[in-house]
Amino acid sequence: MTRATRVTPALCPFCAHTLDTMSDVVGSAKPAPGDWSICLRCAGLLVVGSDLRPVKPALGLYEAACAADSALAAKVTRMRRAVLIGAAVDPTPPPTRH
Ligand SMILES: [Zn+2]
Repeated sequence: MTRATRVTPALCPFCAHTLDTMSDVVGSAKPAPGDWSICLRCAGLLVVGSDLRPVKPALGLYEAACAADSALAAKVTRMRRAVLIGAAVDPTPPPTRH
């Protein structure tokens, strides 16, 4: 089950969308520095910084990460494609408030 985690708001460096929530796509892990992320508005590739804010990755960082993790590129490509075509990343509807 996916769990959303509130983070200190930051602007997407690509589209300036306010990013204040992160979630693990396949699990319930909280974001940690160095985790990869994607803006759900523009599909920009982000990395979680030391202050847990999503930032633009340094040049070559993603390529190095892909070299170390052969499954990373496929996961990122799948997520970016889902965002770009407007597919629901998380099919679970948001909880209703009572
Ligand atoms: Zn964005």
